[in-house]
Parts: sequence; C-alpha cells; structure tokens
Amino acid sequence: MIQDVWPHVLRNEFLRDVKADPESEVYLFDAGKLLIGEKDGEAVLPKAGDFPEETEKVFLFRWDGRARFLVGREGETEVPGGFHFVDMKTLRHTMKAPKDFVYAAWTALQLARWYADNRFCGTCGTRTVFGTTERSLICPHCGRVIYPRIIPAVIVGVTNGDEIVLTKYAGRDIPYFALVAGFTEIGESFEATVRREVMEEVGLKVKNIRYYKSQPWAIVDDLLAGFYCDVDGDVTIRRDPGELKEALWVRREDVTLQPDDFSLTNEMMLTFKEGREPR
Ligand SMILES: [Zn+2]
Repeated sequence: MIQDVWPHVLRNEFLRDVKADPESEVYLFDAGKLLIGEKDGEAVLPKAGDFPEETEKVFLFRWDGRARFLVGREGETEVPGGFHFVDMKTLRHTMKAPKDFVYAAWTALQLARWYADNRFCGTCGTRTVFGTTERSLICPHCGRVIYPRIIPAVIVGVTNGDEIVLTKYAGRDIPYFALVAGFTEIGESFEATVRREVMEEVGLKVKNIRYYKSQPWAIVDDLLAGFYCDVDGDVTIRRDPGELKEALWVRREDVTLQPDDFSLTNEMMLTFKEGREPR
C-alpha cells in the first residue's frame, strides 16, 4: 500500500523550533500541482537553498530523519529555474514516480491544503497563527483552535463464500474494478457506515463485519478503514446507478487487480483472491 515505504520512514509528529537549512527538501504546490525538478528521468524535490532565504518555511514532517518543509505561498512565490509543476496523476501514472516519493508528496499536499484553507478563522474571519505546542492553527481573536482535516471513509469487501462484490464507479474514467466504498457520516460508527454504504450502493444486507487494515489516502484527505463482511440473505445486487456503473459477484480466481499496489482496495482484492481474508 502507499504507506508501506520501508526502509523509508515518515514521522509526522509536530516538532517546534525546527529550522530549514539550505539542503532541506521542500514542497511548493500550485492548485494541487507539485514543484519538482528532474534528475536522470526521476522527480526530485527542490531544496530550501533554491529559494531566497526570507521565503516562508513551515515544518511538515521528517522523512528518514530529515525535516521537510512547505515553502513559500501558493501562487505568490517565484519558481526557481530548472523546476516545474506536475499534477499528482502525472507523477503517479505517467512518470511512475516511486511509491515513497508519491506517498510523501501526497502527505505534504494534504498538509499544504489544510494550512492554505485555514489562513483565516471560519468563525470570526481573523487571520490565524501557528500553534506552538501541537499541529494546529489558532485564532488570536476568538481562540478557536483548528486541527488538521482527516475524513474517515470505509472500503468494503462484501463476500459470499468464494465470491466478492466488485464495482466500477459511475462518472469516473477509471477502467479497473474497486470495492464498495463511502464516507462516514456524522453520528455514525465505521460498522454502521459499512452497513449503510453496502445497502445504498448494491442493495445487500450484511453480517459478520470484520476489520482488515487502514490507509491514509491523502490526495482526498481520507483515512480509509477496510472491512470484510458476509452477505446476509438475498444475494441479488440492486445497483445504485447514480453511484456505480457496474457491480457484480466475482469468483476469487477471476478478481483482476489494479495496475499498482498503492491502494487498500487493491490489497483487499488481492487478499481475497489468495483466500487470506480474515474470516
Ligand atoms: Zn476567530
């Protein structure tokens, strides 16, 4: 999965008073696109020293023990020579950047978006300031504390013996199969989300819901929780055409996988294909 980058290590606990040096790797985004250079055909990050010394730098996380920073302001900071912006799809699918590079970039993007979206207090409109004891933004006027935005959602493998429900989403140009998935609503447990989403998308009642693994999916601010469950009673799929253009029962040996091993969905399909899912 995207977060499985060993021997690399991402540590994102908040550290105060971490300063960039000229060799620190930095991230600059523009409308979701990442500033990169290229070396021997591979994407590389710019360094703090590529920007004027006074350019604002915000600590993001440590990668293999070295602090990385958000640099400058989107749309305002002059781009140094030799670098260009690339969107995340191109980075992942066209350039086939290594998984660890994409994972770090997605994580940086989620943080960058959160910092950018909360420059002003949503309650009173005052410009926020950086929290000093934890990752937060604070309104100096009304005292509101804003924490990073993480949106929980579920991925669900609905099974019936040696068959699993595979789906294709409507309105999206994704050629490969996925699993039932959906966002957790306010007031809902993960288990309740599983039952509701399966009923909404494919009209099936489920039982024996069991947790598998989770995954940060930073490109859309998600934290995904994967579950398997068994169909309870009638196995007839009643597809919601607004959500799905396809939904069908597929036998283990006929499950086709996605083109890379980034997603929890793909790992759950592989795990079922190989008969290793929790029972
Ligand atoms: Zn406020």
